[in-house]
Amino acid sequence: MNQRVFSGMRPTGQLHLGHLAGALTNWLKLQDGYECFYSIVDWHALMSDYADSSRIESNCREVLIDWLSSGLDPEKCVIFVQSHVPQHAELHLALSMVTPLGWLQRCPTYKEQIINIQNKDLSNYAFLGYPVLMAADILLYKAGIVPVGEDQSAHLEIAREMVRRFNGFFGEVLVEPQIMLTPTPKVPGTDGKKMSKSYGNSINLADSPEDVWNKLRTMVTDPAREKRTDPGDPDKCPVWDIHKVFNNSESEKAEIAEGCKTAGIGCVDCKKKLKVHVERVMNPIREKRAYYEKNPDLLGDILREGAVKAGAVARKTMEEVVNSIGFVRRG
Ligand code: ADP
Repeated sequence: MNQRVFSGMRPTGQLHLGHLAGALTNWLKLQDGYECFYSIVDWHALMSDYADSSRIESNCREVLIDWLSSGLDPEKCVIFVQSHVPQHAELHLALSMVTPLGWLQRCPTYKEQIINIQNKDLSNYAFLGYPVLMAADILLYKAGIVPVGEDQSAHLEIAREMVRRFNGFFGEVLVEPQIMLTPTPKVPGTDGKKMSKSYGNSINLADSPEDVWNKLRTMVTDPAREKRTDPGDPDKCPVWDIHKVFNNSESEKAEIAEGCKTAGIGCVDCKKKLKVHVERVMNPIREKRAYYEKNPDLLGDILREGAVKAGAVARKTMEEVVNSIGFVRRG
């Protein structure tokens, strides 16, 4: 199988424990065995934030620091900003020529978001075309493997169909990517819903220990456990769900589950135990964050180098695309 990996994240805010458990942990593993391209996809952020683009630049910096602090290593993978490689926009245009509107209009994420996202006007051309830009991102690198969440599988399917259609018209130029669905735990936020920057319920990788504790301390638990003396049900408790992801001690987890069911331990005790595990994971991330904040020049260097490496691959693919279409050569 093609050993090249592409994945990206939108610079729309700080990353949180959900991103760490649900995406980054897997990205970290892949960087050791595959040729990975990880992109901060700023054009995708503009698609929803065009009315106020003022945060995109600082968000790119935050995402980059979060990635590096979590352990992505620019010596092992290519880390770059999407807009630094103009071929993303160019291939997006080429693909848009062969994409039937129906594929985009039928896409489940489009149908769902156009109804659910009320605070932004998403009736723009680019929002419908989100999967076209995402396909361009992946196909530019001829990536064989795309590690994304289940929520993205419809987009991947569109990218695969696009390859078949494009190659059908112009010859075998693009490569069909495979989705890599890793069983990733869903991390709940402080209100019990999925942790998400848009819900304001997240524990961010950049949070201080005090912030983390304040969030955990006030986090919702099994709603039926009103008093300390009431027995609880771990399966109804989001704090327990976070234990399952970050607590690495099987014996402690067994004790907590038993203690909860028998009212042997209170919710605050359970949260204090969770704090220890969350801090164990977050402390090394904080140390690296402090290092990069003290050495901001490194960030620019990493992105420059990433754009050079990504650009070399992207230019080659785009040249093949243009030649296969049969435009007049530049001479
Ligand atoms: P947000 O909902 O905060 O805007 P994104 O949609 O940008 O997050 O998330 C990017 C990827 O990070 C998702 O495809 C998923 O793999 C992972 N992810 C985000 N939130 C969570 C979560 N709460 N639990 C598990 N994985 C998550």
